[in-house]
Amino acid sequence: MPDTSLALRVHDTLAGRKVRVEPREERGRKLLRLYVCGITPYDSGHIGHAFTFCVYDVLVRFVEASGVRVRYVQNVTDVDDPLFERARRDGVDWRELAESEVAVHIRDMGSLGWRVPDFMPRVSGEITPILRAATKLHSNGYAYKTDALYFDASRYRGYGNLSHRTRRSMIRKLREEGLLGTVGPGAKQDALDFPLWRSSRPEEPAWPSRFGEGRPGWHIECSAMAMRYLGEQIDIHGGGRDLAFSHHESERAQSECLTGKVPFARAWMHTGLVRYEGKKMSKSLGNLVLIPQALERAPAAAVRLYLASHRYGRDWEFRWSGLAQAARLAERVRILLAGERAGVGTAQPAATGRVGPNKGMAAGTRRLVDQFNRVLADDLDTPGALRVLRTALREGDAPAVRWMMGILAGTASLT
Ligand SMILES: [Zn+2]
Repeated sequence: MPDTSLALRVHDTLAGRKVRVEPREERGRKLLRLYVCGITPYDSGHIGHAFTFCVYDVLVRFVEASGVRVRYVQNVTDVDDPLFERARRDGVDWRELAESEVAVHIRDMGSLGWRVPDFMPRVSGEITPILRAATKLHSNGYAYKTDALYFDASRYRGYGNLSHRTRRSMIRKLREEGLLGTVGPGAKQDALDFPLWRSSRPEEPAWPSRFGEGRPGWHIECSAMAMRYLGEQIDIHGGGRDLAFSHHESERAQSECLTGKVPFARAWMHTGLVRYEGKKMSKSLGNLVLIPQALERAPAAAVRLYLASHRYGRDWEFRWSGLAQAARLAERVRILLAGERAGVGTAQPAATGRVGPNKGMAAGTRRLVDQFNRVLADDLDTPGALRVLRTALREGDAPAVRWMMGILAGTASLT
């Protein structure tokens, strides 16, 4: 498969196998629509988050290098309990807290050489489309109003199929996450139903609506925003694997009930969880490695190479020794590219629509780049891509190395 146009396959959680991703034409140019569930802006800058967003950064750069445009939406959940709790605790306005945390996120990810999404909508700025979606679900009989407006999960056949969970397993996860709520008269009718719109607690923001003053439930925001910025059907829906249930399961159900169009997402691509000191890296356990902490110990490009050394769908354990090893690799790259500018630069889309740099490159470089592209096209096999990078380093092929770094590390600095 030498020098071929994009033939990307990714593992689709719903199908349980790799599926071909085929961008559609829009105004004469191929376009891939990507939606990734983003941050709740109260504390987000740890390596677990960076892993997820860097996985999609590699995807975006790889696809764009083939001449296909990517429209990338990543939402900001700025209407959420933990954010309000922290704002209350710190005595600051929730909007200010959210915006300052978004700025930190963009700065941290920017230092990792990430391409900023085309749209980063905030829930607080999308209340009208969210309410429009909730109203339509209600009018069409997919939702009912008691103490909140609930989505009736029984109206969607196949609720549970995306996450491959039984009813029992779904209920267990809801309980673990504190999302089970109350089932009974005046509340939800079934444990799997979830709120589309609910009342706000005192001191929380509330917006007027026909369902009473309140705020959106969690899942509806992503259906509304994905549709507003990408249309009713998208190509790839991404996010951390812990979101598959209940968030993505619910998002899929709502979205397909809203439009009647199936599938809402052609591929559901989930990233693995990052552990540290043996446990999932999380704020509540306190075992975080923050992005700036990693950057104190290694150049940004080394952090990117370390993240890329893991298969995106698998869980892995963060180790400082692994980062140090990636730093040695980045140093070899730096030495080879010495004389070039410090940033490794962005891969330029090929005018031909083919993956790879322009014609005129040496045959050896061409072969390495083709090999690299083939590996990445097969479910974004970044560890495989790193093996090709090491070969290119051994062969001292600077143009090939530069090309590969532009995709694996974006604009991250080598120093
Ligand atoms: Zn989401």
